[in-house]
Amino acid sequence: MAFQSRMKVRPNPSPVPADKRQASLESPSFGKVFTDHMAVIHWNAVVGWHDGSVRARTPFQLDPACAVLHYAQEIFEGMKAYKAASGEVVLFRPQENARRFARSAQRMAMPELPEDLFLHAVQTLVETDLAWIPDGDGSLYLRPFMFASEAFLGVRPADEYIFCVIACSVGPYFKGGAKPIKVWISDSLTRAAPGGTGAAKCGGNYAASLLAQAEASHEGCDQVVFLDAVENLWIEELGGMNLFFVMDDGTVVTPPLGGTILPGITRDSVITLARDRGLVVEERPFSLAEWKSTAANGTLCEAFACGTAAAIAPIGEVRSKVGSFAIGRGEIGPLTAALRNELTNLQRGIEPDRHGWLLKV
Ligand SMILES: *Cc1c(COP(=O)(O)O)cnc(C)c1O
Repeated sequence: MAFQSRMKVRPNPSPVPADKRQASLESPSFGKVFTDHMAVIHWNAVVGWHDGSVRARTPFQLDPACAVLHYAQEIFEGMKAYKAASGEVVLFRPQENARRFARSAQRMAMPELPEDLFLHAVQTLVETDLAWIPDGDGSLYLRPFMFASEAFLGVRPADEYIFCVIACSVGPYFKGGAKPIKVWISDSLTRAAPGGTGAAKCGGNYAASLLAQAEASHEGCDQVVFLDAVENLWIEELGGMNLFFVMDDGTVVTPPLGGTILPGITRDSVITLARDRGLVVEERPFSLAEWKSTAANGTLCEAFACGTAAAIAPIGEVRSKVGSFAIGRGEIGPLTAALRNELTNLQRGIEPDRHGWLLKV
């Protein structure tokens, strides 16, 4: 049966009082200030998608045998709603999130949520929680996700799922300008193998990355860089951001998508914006050895990571067990800064939307 009705909106009978909400929007820390509502749609093998609603954000009741708690059948997305310069609220390329969510579902043997239903759920939640979008540099971070909710310990794709979207108010990722981050090269822990789930946005990939991320923090680094799982030579990506390298002749290099890297929407946008500037963008394997030697001889002048949460984060130092090397002079490089400005201005409707990337809510 096809999903017939629109999302029912059942307003939260006891929302956070306006003064308390306003206070929590002053300087929200990431992932802690949640809105009053959530969008929920159920799926089962008999009726398909059904019972879609936006309602008060409350805990789920899960059976202890709930499949996701045992076999990790779970996928998610990360996207933002921005208050544009005009006062309108916009989403940045949300159709791409809907498409990627469907691809992730396919890889994890989960039912695909139709793209228009994904967008409808996200938009309805944003409309309902408009008051939670901070002014200025902040935004509303949206977290669509889906998990296997069937109570069954047998190992097979579940036949019940819950799709949900929650939202949280977030401030700017970098307060007071983008400061270069330090990254740690993991020499033994890998994130994704050929044939695995590296290209799907699933919670399991993150679980697998946490030990390396903890090692990075222990080494005084902000993020971990994963190398390929086969040869341990090639740069893949960070735990949750894609990587770019800027050469002194203006060439921009980024590792190719080949199943072990998450196809970031920010990555795709950066490639487009760099090509718009007339730059050559190469999607090609880039080794740690090449990164180190080109940083040393000056042919590599900038490196940055990108993703929805941080937009573009410059990399200032690369550390590993066999030594460290610096990128640039301790501040954001000129191309990184220009792309970052352009991207964040596009997301807020300050630059003209020449690629049709914004969707008004
Ligand atoms: C989400 C994610 C990214 C960035 O994707 P965007 O669409 O740009 O936010 C990069 N790498 C991993 C592993 C991710 O999960």
